[in-house]
Amino acid sequence: MKTIGVDVGGTKILCRLVDTDTGKARGRSKCSTPKTGPEDVLKAVVDLIHELDPANEAEAVGIGFPGYVRADGVVVHCTNIVGWDRPLDVSARLGAILGKTVVVGNDVSVGALAEYRLGKSMDSASSTVDAGDDLLAVFVGTGVGGGLILGGKIRSGGRGLAGEIGHVTVVPGGELCGCGELGHLEAYAGKAGMERRARSMAGRGQASQLVDTMQEGSLKSRQLLAAFKADDPVTIQLLSEAADALALAIGNVSAVLDVPHVVLGGGVTSRLGQEFVDQIKSSDWFGGFGPESVELSLASRIDDAGSIGAGILAGDHLRARRE
Ligand SMILES: [Zn+2]
Repeated sequence: MKTIGVDVGGTKILCRLVDTDTGKARGRSKCSTPKTGPEDVLKAVVDLIHELDPANEAEAVGIGFPGYVRADGVVVHCTNIVGWDRPLDVSARLGAILGKTVVVGNDVSVGALAEYRLGKSMDSASSTVDAGDDLLAVFVGTGVGGGLILGGKIRSGGRGLAGEIGHVTVVPGGELCGCGELGHLEAYAGKAGMERRARSMAGRGQASQLVDTMQEGSLKSRQLLAAFKADDPVTIQLLSEAADALALAIGNVSAVLDVPHVVLGGGVTSRLGQEFVDQIKSSDWFGGFGPESVELSLASRIDDAGSIGAGILAGDHLRARRE
């Protein structure tokens, strides 16, 4: 089946034509995410779909959003999209405009679905994940997102919060998280948290290459890698604490759910690569039954997981409705 998979991010929107039988994607239309509110974001999505599929080959459309997405097709809010602070029934709205089924999901959850499905049966040569029906995907970028696949399906939970590993407490009463609580994983392993900590360390007289290179801008993954390679002591400390926090949370979650595979993706992880994965595996903080109990691997799809996963989700939905 041919579907269209759309990945709506805080900075760009990427749209691909997906063959749901093979998991292969072709064509690519993309644009910067409009900063003028959700209506313009939806208009941009429709324009990209028309541009990508002028012959109208696709049978359905799947869209991943960076926020709280309900199973009935309503996108409740997206923290990284300017002005998206009220629920919008995206499935109904875009379905009527495009004349086909439109399915929506959380971006990390659909990314996890792509990693699971591509690893399990499709294109296995380039995959890092093998058999098994349960998988946890952890995406480390500005924040830390999580996606949970149980029994081969996305588990969203009653409130859409399942898999939100970024807000697991790793240090009681610890650093401030973006959500307002203290001591969450995201405060230690997310780029925004590391940036806050590097700046406050600099304020206390502990200079670092990180603060020198980012100056007034926000921390980039490449700056993190460069400072790490240059043996910057603050960066080494922050990344070591990030690896410890990830090891603690991942080990604990896999112990609760008996999830055998954990895939690590996102900008920070993909930039730091296998060395960072190995650092997590060798951390003394590893929770649950230890690193031997979990297969930890790098995501195989760095840029495409969101769009391909959204396309696969749309295909699954259509297939289930026809059965
Ligand atoms: Zn939090």
